[in-house]
Amino acid sequence: MTLSQQRILATEIPGPRSRELQARKVASVSAGVGTTLPVYVERAGGGILRDVDGNQLIDFGSGIAVTTVGNAAPRVVEAVQRQVADFTHTCFMVTPYEEYVAVCEKLAELTPGSHEKRSALFNSGAEAVENAVKVARHHTGRDAVVVFDHAYHGRTNLTMALTAKNMPYKHRFGPFAGEVYRAPMAYPYRWPGGAEACAEEAFDAFVTTVRTQVGEDSCAAVLIEPIQGEGGFIVPPPGWLARVAEWCREQGILLIADEIQTGFARTGDWFACDHEGVVPDLLTTAKGMAGGLPLAAVTGRAELMDSVHVGGLGGTYGGNPVACASALAAIETMEAEDLRARAREIEARFVPRLRALAERHPDRVGDVRGRGAMLAVELVSDGPGRTPDAALAGAVHRACSARGLVTLTCGTFGNVFRFLPPLAIGDDLLAEGLDVFEAAFDDAVSGKVE
Ligand SMILES: *Cc1c(COP(=O)(O)O)cnc(C)c1O
Repeated sequence: MTLSQQRILATEIPGPRSRELQARKVASVSAGVGTTLPVYVERAGGGILRDVDGNQLIDFGSGIAVTTVGNAAPRVVEAVQRQVADFTHTCFMVTPYEEYVAVCEKLAELTPGSHEKRSALFNSGAEAVENAVKVARHHTGRDAVVVFDHAYHGRTNLTMALTAKNMPYKHRFGPFAGEVYRAPMAYPYRWPGGAEACAEEAFDAFVTTVRTQVGEDSCAAVLIEPIQGEGGFIVPPPGWLARVAEWCREQGILLIADEIQTGFARTGDWFACDHEGVVPDLLTTAKGMAGGLPLAAVTGRAELMDSVHVGGLGGTYGGNPVACASALAAIETMEAEDLRARAREIEARFVPRLRALAERHPDRVGDVRGRGAMLAVELVSDGPGRTPDAALAGAVHRACSARGLVTLTCGTFGNVFRFLPPLAIGDDLLAEGLDVFEAAFDDAVSGKVE
């Protein structure tokens, strides 16, 4: 039975059954695991999340950029059911299976660059980032890794060190892994010298950081999200990433692109690096790749990936056969339904409306940015003063939730309102979701939301 693609408000949100479940959650789940919207989901698909009270919410979050093909895409459901009945696990490091190899073949085909590539599969994005750093250090014999302001790379010990933001990711969780250095990010909206000067000055600041704090010949890798995710959907100016990539190549420093959030059609191409013509040495993927099942990968130049001794990479569950079957079906769906074009179409539908909102509220919407179906507005309290307004982002979020629209915020200052709709969402729901967002925004600005 298919889920009707309709927003339904059957109870207040959250409804009574969700509130009961939330009470059980509080009594059994660690308080450290937060929930953005405590509405308990019963079914989901297309652009709809149906909760246990019969409410149907429009999904503008995709479980944080994961359900690109939807939460129950037919090819994914069929492939997973078939695979789970065949076998659930053998451990690829013990007795291998075709699905793992087929995912790595697909990664070699789709990731930037036509050179010889190899991949290794893992369970989560953080694990992929850790392994990309392992490969880079092993191959170069160098220790240092350079990351950027506003970066997000995960929550494990090494990736906490790589991540920029203290609260909630790092606060009181140290000590962190060493030999991690941070350079300024090319953030046009907040660049001190202004957006025009950003590309040039940010490149100089990056080179100075590596040169003065690390030393080029001690630097194993530069790790970057080509469009930053959790840090605020920050799109660097055109050409900046390519310059960074070229400079790294001259220094023998490896470039690792973290495409965990941006990858697999999200930004309107297979990878965000594609828009900039950048070919990284190593690339990490996860989130949208496997239709909601946990799967992550490191893909890189064959000579790097093959330089590691046998047994140096792996893990019990990495590249689980059910997750691999799901990824193959999700990627097939992206190809068959041309979801890259769909992401560009979503951008074309969203951006004019977000710009109109910015014109209506010039003191509150400081910036409209993003690419494909990865879009955001940065909220401020004083227009050109650019003072971050996290309270407004929170109020808009609450107003959207109450009206049955699932949304997410992000940003170092908590003031970025982001849009990550599933690419399987229909045009009607997209338009309706935007109506809901605009009404919620107007109410929040005029103080009608507590
Ligand atoms: C989500 C994310 C990660 C971490 O992925 P997990 O699967 O949550 O460990 C790393 N890098 C980026 C860019 C991400 O968006």
